[in-house]
Amino acid sequence: MERNAKNLELLGFNLSQLEALAIENGEQAFRGRQLYQWLYEKGICNLEDITVLPKSWRGLLIEQGFTVGCLNEINRSKSIDQTIKLLLSTNDGETIETVGIPSRNRLTICISSQIGCSMGCQFCATGKDGLRRSLRVNEIISQFFAIKEAFGRRPSHVVFMGMGEPLLNIEPVLSAIYCLNKDLGIGQRRITLSTVGVRNTLPKLAEMALKHLGSVQFTLALSLHAPNQNLRESLIPSAKNYPLNILMEDCRHYIDITGRRVSFEYILLGHLNDHNEHAEELADLVGGFQSHVNLIAYNPIDGEEFQRPSFKRIQNFMNILERRGIAVSLRSSRGLDKNAACGQLRRIHL
Ligand code: SF4
Repeated sequence: MERNAKNLELLGFNLSQLEALAIENGEQAFRGRQLYQWLYEKGICNLEDITVLPKSWRGLLIEQGFTVGCLNEINRSKSIDQTIKLLLSTNDGETIETVGIPSRNRLTICISSQIGCSMGCQFCATGKDGLRRSLRVNEIISQFFAIKEAFGRRPSHVVFMGMGEPLLNIEPVLSAIYCLNKDLGIGQRRITLSTVGVRNTLPKLAEMALKHLGSVQFTLALSLHAPNQNLRESLIPSAKNYPLNILMEDCRHYIDITGRRVSFEYILLGHLNDHNEHAEELADLVGGFQSHVNLIAYNPIDGEEFQRPSFKRIQNFMNILERRGIAVSLRSSRGLDKNAACGQLRRIHL
């Protein structure tokens, strides 16, 4: 993607941009390649520590205002299930959370794309404090290195399901996906971008992603959380401006452009959106789509009265969808005891 002339944080620069920077500074192109290796393979956070580069060039870069652009870890909480939540600070004194979820074969990082969120979903802690600002590409990529450092191994999967609405920060998010894929070697199929939907952005996302990434292989996870407009807008205030029929039309359009199926996310709220008729209505809505439904049992947050449904109710909901021929799975809640699970991120220490 185009490099913003004012962008002085190096994380997010690709190889040719770093080579060009070396040449602009009177160095040879291979110096750019060395810088690239130390940024992405070694994960060095401080320009002064890139000792392979001549001291004079490091000094010049620093003088010009360049930094690597890492975030600082200020708190780490480890859950009994080994999930780790990091509280990271930005240069301007803001904080974000990022979560690493380990399993035997994978390490998934749940990345934040904004500081706070303006969408105000009722069941989500992040939306309670509103939006502070969107993250820059280096601030997104830096979360990868922070989790790598916390676990002592590379994340294998990335989900944009942390703080913020990625479609309100499309350019940096797509640049970050490009960097994760091309510079950090995460296959696009191991990357998921989750959204509650922002009007007029889904076809735009598809077109921009095709243009910038060449092909769109990452998964789009559309957070539905309700099978009809009334219920949906009571849970997701921003849905008032984005009727469900138009949202589903945009999903079809997205599938047409990208050729990728969409995953629909559905948080089950006990006795609210988990009745039999909701399952039937959801099957009507997504039936015929190239899709998958991912159910998530509500993870409690302070100040909200929603209930986590019983296992029996969850099972019943799943059975109805399966009977209707819908591909469905249940996402396990990880990091619950440290408020690190879906919808619980709120920039607090535990
Ligand atoms: S669920 Fe996502 S979009 Fe909704 S408030 Fe939380 S972070 Fe924002």
